[in-house]
Amino acid sequence: MTTPLLEVKGLQQHFPIKGGFLKKTTGYVKAVDGIDLQVFPGETLGIVGESGCGKSTTGRTILRLLEPTSGEVWFDGKDLAKLPKEDMRRMRKDLQMIFQDPYASLNPRMTIKQILMESLMVHNIGTPAERLKTIEEIIEIVGLRKEHLNRHPHDFSGGQRQRIGIARALVVKPKLIIADEPVSALDVSIQSQVLNLLKDLRKEFNLTLMFISHDLSVVKHLCDRIAVMYLGRIVEIADKRTLFENPSHPYTRALLSAVPVAKPRQKRERILLTGDLPSPANPPSGCTFHPRCPYATDICKSKVPSLSDIGAGQLVSCHLVQSGELLSK
Ligand code: SF4
Repeated sequence: MTTPLLEVKGLQQHFPIKGGFLKKTTGYVKAVDGIDLQVFPGETLGIVGESGCGKSTTGRTILRLLEPTSGEVWFDGKDLAKLPKEDMRRMRKDLQMIFQDPYASLNPRMTIKQILMESLMVHNIGTPAERLKTIEEIIEIVGLRKEHLNRHPHDFSGGQRQRIGIARALVVKPKLIIADEPVSALDVSIQSQVLNLLKDLRKEFNLTLMFISHDLSVVKHLCDRIAVMYLGRIVEIADKRTLFENPSHPYTRALLSAVPVAKPRQKRERILLTGDLPSPANPPSGCTFHPRCPYATDICKSKVPSLSDIGAGQLVSCHLVQSGELLSK
């Protein structure tokens, strides 16, 4: 069996809520509340869910852009969650991030050449001549030209800036890239160009990718396996085909029922989600989806379902699916 490149166990990210005159901690926002997942070499794992479900926080916590509250993040034989800061800094060469807003993540005072050079210099990669050769190659690989290296971020369109963000992540030849909603700030016409670029690069560089998005059709385009998140937890993980053909968790079914299908024969029953995503500062008891779930029973309100394998590597966190009372669609 292949060893995962990344293995996350029981990851939590709880942000304290401060209140009162003395700014005492009065509670916690449980943005990520016990995530377990694995990412295998060369695969693209999609993380999908509504805005506010904790998917971006999960990505940032894995990379320790936010310090985890608890849990383990095993990468290349090391637990990143416990790594001293200096070792973590060195490790960043192998773990890169592509951000949602490329403009905010690119220093406006630096040229593209300086931005890309900086990444190589920080990690002490190559001689000055080798660095120049590397960045000239990478800028063309992402679909821009060498002349663009002397320009500043504001000289580029949104799609071009995201290409620069991708070049910056790729230039250090990382083992894992976490892409956080990389196309959601772009025009729809540009989105597919950037997605196709990521798809090509994935093959060319044999990239391992964690792709975070609120959009199931975007995730479908690129990912091998998909994890569905709800209120800080994963409720279902499966390979793409299984998830789209046999979604099991009622939340996954509701999300999928809103995605248009190519062949009308495949038309799914529309499941409308009622109510808003509850606050992660005060999550519902038991299965946190129960106030919005059309199938909820008494046990759902009192007992937290585990994330269990229901066959063929499809993991689902639902009492009724696990007991066979609710069959996959
Ligand atoms: Fe719905 Fe109960 Fe399953 Fe939660 S455990 S998804 S409330 S049926």
